[in-house]
Amino acid sequence: MIRVTISDLDSIKAWYKDAVIKILNKIKLSASSKNDFEKKLITSLKNNAFCSDVLILSIDEVSNKYDWVKQYIDTIDFLESVPYILNKIKTIKGKGSRKIKERQLIDFVEFNRNEIIDIKLKTFSSTSIEDGIHNVCSSKGAFVSFIKVLDDFIGELNKVIIQKFNYVVVLGKSDIRAQLVMKLNIKVCPYCNRQYINPITINKKNNYLGDIDHILPKSRYALFQLSLFNLIPACKACNQLFKKDKTTPILNPYYEGFGDDAFLEINYSTVNELIGLDEPHDFSWNIIHDNKGKIRTSIDTFQLNEVYKSNSSEFKRILKIKFLIQSRVYRDYINNLLNGGNSRYIEYFDETLLYGVSLDEDKFQDELLSKAIYDIVINN
Ligand SMILES: [Zn+2]
Repeated sequence: MIRVTISDLDSIKAWYKDAVIKILNKIKLSASSKNDFEKKLITSLKNNAFCSDVLILSIDEVSNKYDWVKQYIDTIDFLESVPYILNKIKTIKGKGSRKIKERQLIDFVEFNRNEIIDIKLKTFSSTSIEDGIHNVCSSKGAFVSFIKVLDDFIGELNKVIIQKFNYVVVLGKSDIRAQLVMKLNIKVCPYCNRQYINPITINKKNNYLGDIDHILPKSRYALFQLSLFNLIPACKACNQLFKKDKTTPILNPYYEGFGDDAFLEINYSTVNELIGLDEPHDFSWNIIHDNKGKIRTSIDTFQLNEVYKSNSSEFKRILKIKFLIQSRVYRDYINNLLNGGNSRYIEYFDETLLYGVSLDEDKFQDELLSKAIYDIVINN
């Protein structure tokens, strides 16, 4: 997983905002609000300043700026964490377990309460929200019914949202998608770093054959399906085979990659592996520092330890070159070239010629296997 650096980001943001708002303005919103929350949502969707913020600010910035957006995100996060709490209470057994389970569910709901959750809790009691909490936490069945009601409500909000923010309508049917990827200028998949994804131009038309992954899946977090920093150009395998609609938090390549916190480590079992005469067999992404847990989830989500196994012959070649460069034979060869008055040839012997990549962290997004090869040469 590599971090991408986008040059000229401000002008890309300005272009993207203008292009998308132009399409959004043609879309008529037909929805009526049944409560205050839906009223806030509909008013916001009709407001160009709000739509622009959703398009080009980071998700954290939008969430900090608009309270209802924060509640929308928090509620979906809450729903996504329900399987964990249900699994947790499943393990509670024995005397008094019913009371303990109820207490844990109450704490879970209390901790996550917000305007949306309260709207639905109210429907589970005729007296108070607190009473509603007790009612929905009194049994697993009652709790699951409450979650279903809340989930349906988010579904309804998302139905209103996708009238405007609709990835297929806005990006799928225009050439904004290909233009965007062209402007971002990311050549290789930032998730796996193993596939080229750069668009190609044929007859002056930009064609993008890769995918755009939504870090927050558009099926759940519909509001962010057109948000620039939620759109990650990626290869089809990473998007369609591994990430799919998973909501597990992973690194966002616009902000962070493995950097120095994880590296491809080879455990050599023979000298032949070390000097590149045999393919290395035992290597994996070794985490040095992962304070948010997102490096682990990124490795697991894209199954990087498994997919990199198919690159062992490439790594053998790199190890062979590395050994050769460190050997006297190579040094003598270079010395001979230089002493023979051919010093201008030295410029040909750069990293890209030798290893196939530049070993320059700023160019990781341009070169296949760049981070792995960098680690084999520098960190092993
Ligand atoms: Zn990929």
